[in-house]
Amino acid sequence: APRKLAAGNWKMNGTLAALAEIDQLVAAHPSPACDVLICPPATLIHAMATRAAGSVLRVGGQDCHAKTSGAHTGDIAAVELKDVGASHVILGHSERRADHGETDAEVAAKALAAHEAGLVAVICVGETEAQRDAGQTLDVIATQLQGSVPAGATAANTVIAYEPVWAIGTGRTPTNDQIAEVHALMRDRLAARFADGAEISLLYGGSVKPSNAAEIFAIADVNGALVGGASLKASDFGAIISAL
Ligand code: 13P
Repeated sequence: APRKLAAGNWKMNGTLAALAEIDQLVAAHPSPACDVLICPPATLIHAMATRAAGSVLRVGGQDCHAKTSGAHTGDIAAVELKDVGASHVILGHSERRADHGETDAEVAAKALAAHEAGLVAVICVGETEAQRDAGQTLDVIATQLQGSVPAGATAANTVIAYEPVWAIGTGRTPTNDQIAEVHALMRDRLAARFADGAEISLLYGGSVKPSNAAEIFAIADVNGALVGGASLKASDFGAIISAL
């Protein structure tokens, strides 16, 4: 069965003081039934990875460049993330697609760089509200999946997160049937394209919180969550870990 993963995306939140949350998290969940990942701002990756060493907690980036080095002011290479202790990197989050115009092809190139650096790529896909209202959800997801997941993806180096754009930070979530429909499509497409595609972990993301986590984790082909706001507090994220 695919590995279960509780992943936190801190986005642009957290200074050094926030590292106290991970001490609390690790102490409360010494041996959870799932993998646990937090992707803090890049400024915190090294300190968090150092502090989490020897614990169950894995640490990841929120983006990387497709190249390994060079004249790209402000960008971070996958090998550089790996160097400071990251094991994963989120790629193609809808906020990066919207704020930085990232295309599926760029996301795929970044994912390839992540794989070559030995990082697990957590590749995000998701429809906008207008696309859902227009009945385009499954087409949008299939297209993003085809374009954003590079050749060579395996269950060991790739995780897919379905994050409907309209459910992010809004407190709104799709119905269980809507989540199941998208996850079934993703499972089918990945299994058809990759040798161990049936084993790739599929996360749901968008307004996951302690009160809805167990219900979402019971949906077929949901192997975990990518959590934004509720990952910032150890108590909330801990409750989500327990639900998985
Ligand atoms: P929220 O959990 O805050 O809705 O954010 C979801 C998300 O974008 C995680 O990557």
